[in-house]
Amino acid sequence: MSACLKFDTKKAKEEGHQEEGSLTKTTKMDCVSLPPLSKFAICGGTHGNEMTGIHLLRHLQKHKVEKAGSVSITTVLSNPRAIDACKRYIDTDLNRCFTHTLLRTPITDSSPYELQRAHELNAIVGPKGSEEAVDLICDLHNTTANMGLCVIFNSTDLMALHIYKYIKSKITSVPVRAIDTREPISENYSLDSVGKYGFSFEVGPQPNGVLRADVFNVMKEAVDLTIEWIQQFNSGVTFDGGEAETYCPVNKVDYPRDPTTNEITAAIHPELQDNDFKPLQPGDPIFQSFAGETVKHEGKGLHPVFINECAYYEKRTAFILAEKITVTFPSICVKKDCGV
Ligand SMILES: [Zn+2]
Repeated sequence: MSACLKFDTKKAKEEGHQEEGSLTKTTKMDCVSLPPLSKFAICGGTHGNEMTGIHLLRHLQKHKVEKAGSVSITTVLSNPRAIDACKRYIDTDLNRCFTHTLLRTPITDSSPYELQRAHELNAIVGPKGSEEAVDLICDLHNTTANMGLCVIFNSTDLMALHIYKYIKSKITSVPVRAIDTREPISENYSLDSVGKYGFSFEVGPQPNGVLRADVFNVMKEAVDLTIEWIQQFNSGVTFDGGEAETYCPVNKVDYPRDPTTNEITAAIHPELQDNDFKPLQPGDPIFQSFAGETVKHEGKGLHPVFINECAYYEKRTAFILAEKITVTFPSICVKKDCGV
């Protein structure tokens, strides 16, 4: 993945954000004014066996949560067939289908179900990159890794950064951290990239197909805080900028494998298991072979995330190594002349 950068001033200019003022000395004078968020979409069940988002979405739909102050709320169960089957996906991973290239690929009867569904979702909450797209998408996910609440976004997304900062200041029951994808929007394959702004919540640990109340409570609190933040933003509150720590993925690590059969020959080492985000130094144990031998980390010191994530066995990923970086970002406030 690409090197980590500070807030992308070029993108901000292209999007009509204020140009003046230092981005490193953030004061209210440097406030970036952005249009109000009038359309907000909450998506769940993008992966059909991640139960928290599915049940939280059904709960919101049952209680007809469709508006909060000035913002209209759309709730979307993203992958109904996978939800019915309680599987991550039917034909292919839906949350890898939202690049511009795939969304422009003509659909036929033989197209994978998830690609067809991606086109339907692009019509509901997009089209991606257009003026008609919803202002903000929040996509709800679970991980089997011990990651607490993670907000996953590209840190060039000022809205996502500020919402992350707000949620982190409010939620105390679990660690709240940010994973910084750094992907250009056109190549970003996830559903939340279809909105003008977007992010995912990833809450765990929770096994696939299982619903835990503690994880549900964290997800619900994070969604409620997001709605609260949007209402405050739209009503004219200025949110101060500053600095945020994010984790930028730089490398994937596969399990040791038998070169002939490709079967894995080791499991995550007990000293690494459940220690997501804890710095991993050269020489630290990462795998334990089935013969009882320890495999040690050989690269530079980084932070492991998604350790032993169930869904990543098929992606040949035992864990992802991330670099901790500091992102500096300006204050934001609503553009006054836009109305809501
Ligand atoms: Zn997921």
